[in-house]
Amino acid sequence: MKDMAAKKFTLIGNRLEVDFVNTIYPRGVFCSWNDLVAFLEATGTIGRGEASRLRARGRREPEFCARAFGQAIMLRSVLREALAAIEARRPVPPHCAGAINTVLRSLEGYAQLMPAGKGWRLGFVARSLDPLQAMAPIAHSAAELFEKADTAPVRKCANPECVLYFYDTSRTGRRRWCSMAICGNRHKVAAFAQRRASR
Ligand SMILES: [Zn+2]
Repeated sequence: MKDMAAKKFTLIGNRLEVDFVNTIYPRGVFCSWNDLVAFLEATGTIGRGEASRLRARGRREPEFCARAFGQAIMLRSVLREALAAIEARRPVPPHCAGAINTVLRSLEGYAQLMPAGKGWRLGFVARSLDPLQAMAPIAHSAAELFEKADTAPVRKCANPECVLYFYDTSRTGRRRWCSMAICGNRHKVAAFAQRRASR
């Protein structure tokens, strides 16, 4: 299930909030509460149990969850703005921090060790009823990024037509493409054609 869900999304960002911003591509993949749940599951942010609880909630309270999804989309565009600022070495605008704080405020619950394979992972059990708190892990990760915004290696893919961002964790720190398969090869092919044409 996790692999199937993962294929739906372009998870090349190296950070949760960056991958979330990238759900804008491919178009039409991220358009409902269930897609948000699938994204959280595909990124390993929530387990299968939590995912089915959130899906059940979507069936039980469709309007409530649709509204939360609308807020998620708004948060996504604000985060996109923040990534553009970080990439350009500009300060993260205050309204971006404000949007993150709104999500963090919706959070009520406690940390718990949960079984993960043969070991354990530290998870979070929600106590509040606000569906917006499904976004909390994304907000947390974004908050961490904002804290180190002045040095964070956030970049946009070098293909000007590409909308994807990534957090460069490469050894050389010179990653240029969202992925070799999506944009890197296309660039190589175009450069090759250009060299041939100019011969
Ligand atoms: Zn790209």
